Amino acid sequence: MEQPVTLSENWQAFVEKCKNCHACALADSRQHVVIWRGGVRAPLIILGEGPGADEDRQGIPFVGRSGRLLDLLLTSCGFKPEDYHICNIVKCRPPGNRVPTREEAAACRPLLKEQLLFVRPAVYLLMGATAFRYFTGSEEGISRARGIWTVSNKCHIMPTFHPAYVLRDPSKKIYLWKDMASVRQKLEELDLVQPLQRPS
Ligand code: SF4
Repeated sequence: MEQPVTLSENWQAFVEKCKNCHACALADSRQHVVIWRGGVRAPLIILGEGPGADEDRQGIPFVGRSGRLLDLLLTSCGFKPEDYHICNIVKCRPPGNRVPTREEAAACRPLLKEQLLFVRPAVYLLMGATAFRYFTGSEEGISRARGIWTVSNKCHIMPTFHPAYVLRDPSKKIYLWKDMASVRQKLEELDLVQPLQRPS
């Protein structure tokens, strides 16, 4: 009798498909296709813009300075790696760290949609203007949109600043931290992570 295909085999097949993708011109200059880090299935998805130089070199999202800030904030909010899945709007580095074009984002969207079927997140943290615009279709500025929950298809969506922006303007760090704390609270309310012990 044929063995049932496990999530892990399906996930591996998906990863291979991403690694072989040439659906847009970003494939020509990449070193690695940058797919995810964290849990494959996770209650929280953290979506950024696209890989930078460090990510392209290592094939892992958010491993440079922005990633270190993100990890610091995730840890301070009590998250464990199995609680989240980190990925980007595009999986290959735009040359010179430019913003991915609308066409590149559209070319990568089928892979992102497929990825979401594995992750099955209840909560989305959209980091930065590009992730917010390309994921929601909204033209509103991130400074106005951040910190405000919306619900779509029963998923809770929180836009916030990108860590790279916060590194350029540290006065914005408090907003990123507040939004991540709000995400933690939401996941606790949904009973998807253990409540943190907070001082009374
Ligand atoms: S950015 Fe996405 S669509 Fe473009 S080549 Fe890479 S994986 Fe494929």
